[in-house]
Amino acid sequence: MVFKNGVTLQGMHYLIHEPLFDIMEPAFNAYGVEMVVTCTLGGEHSKRSYHPFGLAVDLRRRHLTDEKAVELAGELKRELREHDNRFDVVLERDHFHVELDIRRPHRRRPPMGRRYRPDFMGPPEDLSEWEEGWEIGGEEGGSS
Ligand SMILES: [Zn+2]
Repeated sequence: MVFKNGVTLQGMHYLIHEPLFDIMEPAFNAYGVEMVVTCTLGGEHSKRSYHPFGLAVDLRRRHLTDEKAVELAGELKRELREHDNRFDVVLERDHFHVELDIRRPHRRRPPMGRRYRPDFMGPPEDLSEWEEGWEIGGEEGGSS
């Protein structure tokens, strides 16, 4: 991971840190390019931007063809949302914009190491822990 001059992770929301290193960087590397962080908190952004809150990063796209950039954006979105459904990835003309919308309802993953793989795993032994890890029907079925 490389940072454009003057760009640092200082002040970034902690929920972005791990995905930067564990999801975004490997995804770029899989395309044979170094991930370059071009913007975190600084820079000029729209009024409703997540950047000033440390909830958005911009990543360089110019070292990728348009075709590869589209592909990678889709992959980033899929992998990040699998990790946390509140992530969004937007392919801008000259960068990837990644943000974590903490105002969206959060569908949490099961506890660490207990990722549900229905094909080759039975139900977890301890169901109470399992149900705690999921907010069932969080987004759609509002009861009010
Ligand atoms: Zn941005």
